[in-house]
Amino acid sequence: MTAALIDGKAFAESLRGRVGELAAGFQAKAGRKAGLAVVLVGEDPASQVYVRNKGKQTVACGMASFEHKLPAETAEADLLALVERLNADPAVDGILVQLPLPPHVDEQKVIATINPDKDVDGFHVVNAGRLAVGQAGFVPCTPLGCVMLLRDRLGDLAGLEAVVIGRSNIVGKPMAQLLLAQSCTVTIAHSRTRDLPGVVRRADIVVAAAGRAEMVKADWIKPGATVIDVGINRVPAAEAGKTKLVGDVDFAGVSEVAGAITPVPGGVGPMTIAVLLRNTLVAAHRNAGLELAADAI
Ligand code: NAP
Repeated sequence: MTAALIDGKAFAESLRGRVGELAAGFQAKAGRKAGLAVVLVGEDPASQVYVRNKGKQTVACGMASFEHKLPAETAEADLLALVERLNADPAVDGILVQLPLPPHVDEQKVIATINPDKDVDGFHVVNAGRLAVGQAGFVPCTPLGCVMLLRDRLGDLAGLEAVVIGRSNIVGKPMAQLLLAQSCTVTIAHSRTRDLPGVVRRADIVVAAAGRAEMVKADWIKPGATVIDVGINRVPAAEAGKTKLVGDVDFAGVSEVAGAITPVPGGVGPMTIAVLLRNTLVAAHRNAGLELAADAI
């Protein structure tokens, strides 16, 4: 392997450390803890693990965690009423509704009901709009985590060619907006892109967020490029009956060509919750009318 490993786990740990220090300062000034409410509907096992981890890490950072677990058959109106109560609750700075929601619930309607100033996931159209026009708002946690890793690795990103594979509202599109805001020259690729390997070969920065196991191959990569692998795919392991996690990038091959690369697991994944806590702390300062220096976290 010739590429440097981008250690998202270590970066996330240090980010949580900074959030913890600032959360203590917030509590001293505001007379209360910053608070994050997480709503889980149903019993999806992966979602249960995420919610448990979010709760644990929120408390470990010195913030208040409010968990609301509702049965899968919860009526949409009842979920919307809960979101309204959380919007009105002064102890709650951030609201996260764990997706996916059961099919009888309209996800967009639920997201639209969250107060944009408590929307620490950054999924509300108001926050998507703020990102597009360059106003302060909340940015989805995974792409913001990717930019933090890129800035940490490369410093100034201005003028670099960036190719984002994937155009979802939660990863690809905000990722492209963030890279544009960093003055990269940005291309968004998707399932209808012609000659994807040729497009990716132009890139100084590749962000793979397609949800396709090990799709990005070594001969797609410009030597020395920085590769951020957002994909999380469960595939059969060598041992019969077992599975393992792989990214969207063929790690073994690409790490012989790239300049730097995130592993899966241990790259982008750990950043998501750390950025969620960071966003919650920012929300708490705004809600309490307290200053938080733009470069504090
Ligand atoms: P998504 O909503 O399914 O979007 C996938 C995107 O990839 C779509 O825009 C799709 O194009 C594009 N795509 C699919 N196949 C392609 C191909 N063969 N060539 C080029 N583009 C292709 O997925 P998502 O929610 O953005 O998530 C993407 C991946 O990131 C998943 O593996 C997910 O598990 C992972 N993820 C990780 C984290 C984390 O680390 N914390 C967070 C979120 C997501 P079309 O639009 O044309 O269909």
